[in-house]
Amino acid sequence: QLTTTYNAGELHDDHPVRFTNGGLRLDHKPENAIEWYVKIPHHEDYHLWMPAQPNPEQRDWLEALNAGDATMGESRLFERDGTWYLHVTATRDVEERSDVSAEERTPIGVDIGEASLATVCHRDGHGSPTAPELWADEGKTVRRLRKTYFTATRRLQTRGSERIVESFGDDIWDQIDDVFHRVTREVVEYAESVENPVLVLEDLTYIRESMDYGEYMNRRLHGWGFAKLHAQIRYKAVEKGIPVETVNPCNTSKECHACGEVGYRPRQATFKCTNDACWMGEYQADVNGAINIA
Ligand SMILES: [Zn+2]
Repeated sequence: QLTTTYNAGELHDDHPVRFTNGGLRLDHKPENAIEWYVKIPHHEDYHLWMPAQPNPEQRDWLEALNAGDATMGESRLFERDGTWYLHVTATRDVEERSDVSAEERTPIGVDIGEASLATVCHRDGHGSPTAPELWADEGKTVRRLRKTYFTATRRLQTRGSERIVESFGDDIWDQIDDVFHRVTREVVEYAESVENPVLVLEDLTYIRESMDYGEYMNRRLHGWGFAKLHAQIRYKAVEKGIPVETVNPCNTSKECHACGEVGYRPRQATFKCTNDACWMGEYQADVNGAINIA
């Protein structure tokens, strides 16, 4: 039975408000300072939209729920020591993982970027980089959509058309999310084409720590969708029984994958090795990064 009215003073650990499936709804607005919202049913025609801070480690579950790839079950809202918590039950189907040891698996490096939305690469049986795949057109599409959003919202906001801004923004971000879902599905399909794969991503906690606040906010505002893409890859990989590991991203974009020397980028898409003894010279920068991650 759906709870529609309650006394906030009665909400505690032992007296949570329970919502059966269908009662709650999650909404993701990447364009807002607070990205996640929970719709709490209150009266028949009146709902509360509560801003919510997700646990970063459960981000993939939220993405799965948001995409309709997981089913929401019963949820509980409660207060503990002055903080409000929402526990959401979610279920999804996953394939059983084969019991191949970590050493026998083939690491597939996934580099998330601005120019190429995603770049994947792995090494063949002889250790040579093979089958690089880049999603550059999708990177271009996302940049164009983001630009449309920021240009149009600035114009609409000066006219005070807040409601138009919101519905327009939802539409644009839905289009970006569609691109994200297609790319992350194809990344997982790439992994499925390799025998005993393990997908390797950069550990986002290191990236947040190494970036100063301005740089981080700038990237977030530009909708890199870094965390979103990672979360989508994670939950789709689990669905296919593919393990996911993370690595410290330190120098993954700066080192030469052949000799390990720190090089530089003469152009955005090009990595140049500065080691005279190294055969490599110039290499596609995103692919170099993906191999280092692998
Ligand atoms: Zn080199």
